[in-house]
Amino acid sequence: MLGASHAGAVAARMSNAQRTAAYVAAQRRFGLASPRRRVPRSRHPFLVESDYAAKLVALVHGWRDRVATLVNELPELLAGARQHRGDELETRTERLGLPIVIENPAGSVRHWTDGDGTQDETVMGWSYGYLEGFRGADGEDVDVYLGPVESPEWIFVIHQQSKATGFTTYDEDKIMLGWSSATDALEAYLAQYDDPRFFGGMTAYTAPDFLARLVRATGAKLTRADAWRLDIGEGRRTRVLLDRVREDVASAARATEQVAKRAGEQVSNIQRAELAKQTKAALGVDVPVADRNIHALIEHFAHENVALIKSLGNRTLDDIEKLVTGAYVRGLRAEDVAQEIARRFDIAERHARLIARDQIGRLNSQITRARHDELGIGKFRWLTMDDNRVRQRHRPFHGNVYPYRGEGTPEFFPGDEIMCRCVEQPVYDDILAMVDELLAA
Ligand SMILES: [Zn+2]
Repeated sequence: MLGASHAGAVAARMSNAQRTAAYVAAQRRFGLASPRRRVPRSRHPFLVESDYAAKLVALVHGWRDRVATLVNELPELLAGARQHRGDELETRTERLGLPIVIENPAGSVRHWTDGDGTQDETVMGWSYGYLEGFRGADGEDVDVYLGPVESPEWIFVIHQQSKATGFTTYDEDKIMLGWSSATDALEAYLAQYDDPRFFGGMTAYTAPDFLARLVRATGAKLTRADAWRLDIGEGRRTRVLLDRVREDVASAARATEQVAKRAGEQVSNIQRAELAKQTKAALGVDVPVADRNIHALIEHFAHENVALIKSLGNRTLDDIEKLVTGAYVRGLRAEDVAQEIARRFDIAERHARLIARDQIGRLNSQITRARHDELGIGKFRWLTMDDNRVRQRHRPFHGNVYPYRGEGTPEFFPGDEIMCRCVEQPVYDDILAMVDELLAA
């Protein structure tokens, strides 16, 4: 089966070359061919590339202009965040890298309702709250008491009994975080309750073991304390402003499709004109091509470029969002943040240029190969730009002749590798030999 289809492919290729040879021979017989000349060199479409790069860069500049609203508001937003951070320090803290919300600071009065409806209040000997971002097995917050030791070696988990069942059943766990011994932890715990029967047992964990079990039991990831600090007005405002720019990125991506298609058509037209000159110089007459695959190649190119621009935009905005929210947490200066944002757009701009260069070179090469195939040109001469920017790996290929198929085919073609400016110079020897044969017959 394979052999048969390969033979079929060879026959089809031969017929392309034979068709070209027959066309050229006929033109010669009618005296319509011009004398053979030196074949002009294949060129990389630099003009289309720089024009396309300029258009992609303009998209990036459009996003940058839209982010200006955020940059202008930065001094105010950062001042607001500073204010919030001050407020929050009283109610939130961090132990062992765990974000903790303190509902009842030490010394405050906690009003509570028991399972049996009893209401009372307790003066808190220790700060009491819950682990932010974690849910216990029952879906409830994981309650925690904070003791005097900042980085305790052991964590004590007290298993509390339910008052509603007369202390006969398990209710929930209380984490004693910040005591150096089980006795201290138990004493601190019992001081908070009016009945010792709340205490239903205790398990001690080393701190690392506790953290591991916590993650396993709750399925949560350890969240950095930074994360929750962002859910404040400034963080929300930032998201609103950046979401507007994200809409622009989406519409820019749509615009890219048209821009890319035009660039693709330009590449195709330039390549067509170049190939016409080359074929006319080599064979004495230009040979029409059906361009069967060109449309599909340009469509594919446009879609790929849309995806690349979209991801460039989204990545840039993600970076900026992280940058700005990080600035709220760390209290950076607006000028410094603005400068960093400008730097992100410089990077995005460079990236847009790289996309243009890479994509145009690749498309040009694909179009060239498709048309060479249609003409039955089975071999090409590899031409590098022959300057000091040619990558080391491609230098040895310069000037060599390679077949497009079969034995001796290179592992990759010019333009395939990222930002390659190498091109395929058509080799007409086989077709010329066929033409001579036809004319001699
Ligand atoms: Zn190259």
